[in-house]
Amino acid sequence: MTGVHSLLPAGQPGLLVSPVFGAEPYRGVEDLARYLAAGGYAPLTARDRFLDLIAAVGLRGRGGAGFPAAVKLRAVRDAPGRPVVVANGEEGEPGSVKDRWLLRHRPHLILDGLRLAAAMTGAEHGVVYLSDPRAEQAVRHALAERPAGPRVVVVRTDQAYVAGEETAVVRRIEGGPALPTAKPPRPFEAGVGGAPTLVANVETLARIAVMHACPDVAPALAGAHLVTVSGPGGSAAALIEVPAGTHLKVPADLCGHGMAEAVLLGGMFGGLYGPGWTDLPLDHDALKAAGRALGCGALHFLRPGDCPVALATEATAYLKAQSARQCGVCVSGTGALAGTLAALARGETGAGPTQQLRRWSRQLPGRGACGLLDAAARIVATLLTHFPDRLDAHRGSGCPDCTDEAPDDGRRFAVPVP
Ligand code: SF4
Repeated sequence: MTGVHSLLPAGQPGLLVSPVFGAEPYRGVEDLARYLAAGGYAPLTARDRFLDLIAAVGLRGRGGAGFPAAVKLRAVRDAPGRPVVVANGEEGEPGSVKDRWLLRHRPHLILDGLRLAAAMTGAEHGVVYLSDPRAEQAVRHALAERPAGPRVVVVRTDQAYVAGEETAVVRRIEGGPALPTAKPPRPFEAGVGGAPTLVANVETLARIAVMHACPDVAPALAGAHLVTVSGPGGSAAALIEVPAGTHLKVPADLCGHGMAEAVLLGGMFGGLYGPGWTDLPLDHDALKAAGRALGCGALHFLRPGDCPVALATEATAYLKAQSARQCGVCVSGTGALAGTLAALARGETGAGPTQQLRRWSRQLPGRGACGLLDAAARIVATLLTHFPDRLDAHRGSGCPDCTDEAPDDGRRFAVPVP
């Protein structure tokens, strides 16, 4: 299966197969007339009650961290100063397409979510932050035809792994480079121009807009996730909406990856998993409790026979190349993880470096200003845990799948937008 699909239960009167994707999978851009006909841009008459609904259904942010959306909204609303709201559509993970798909095809849904976030926080100024030219075109067109609302500007950045991190977003909007800064303060305390700033992923805003139009389905919408499913070389790529708690086996089977040997979870943020991956639930809390992470929900499957060491080597080489090189521990740590793993993949080392990798993968997480170093450490840690035999097989003779120089441009993970 390729393309765009939802696995949410259908059939109730008034419940679309997927209100997030729309009544039909849009090939073009949803225009204002269609969006209004679906109940969009309705006035927000009871902002606190709507915020309570978002809290009650437990909506989590969809940028990767899974932070409760209502807590963030309330923190921005209650902080001193006039808030700013940002729709963050820069998905730095090369294996994720959900944010670009939403911006390209349903820009009014995102602008409506931003309008509601502004109303709930008291913001008069909004920003749509993105890197995709087609998404920018769709958003600018929608801005020109939308009903009156808060002042919204579009800020474009270059696509990069760290460009969507919330402090990088603020820095770029202020005219600087899209690179993370040290925290605190977090943007909800002091963001754009020092104002309390809500940086919300576009899928989060899409779910808020749909909940406003269809409050009856809010619980189902809050628990559902958009996942990008891909295989080697972007093969069989699909964007799928899965209900809460769906096991990985379901989207994998649908997309022809049911026999995969392993999966890279959460873009590059969630780590690499081998036997038993089929039973992992697509749920932030369950994965976190198991020391794993859902991240942005991108799932990259390995074919049987593909080398997980080669995949981990390419992923860490990409992360090393994407390091913003502003935290010493990231420059040396990501470099050491990638370099040592590459040497091991080529069969150049004995057992000692494996122990080093194990030690670094425990010591490095949490020490950079953003999650890039954590992602590299988690990939190495999970490779060591789940594929010790494959690593052993590389010692001495190396592996034909592990090339001399692992590409560092992320091309293996890149997925076209369906
Ligand atoms: S951890 Fe790495 S990528 Fe993140 S801000 Fe520091 S140097 Fe940049």
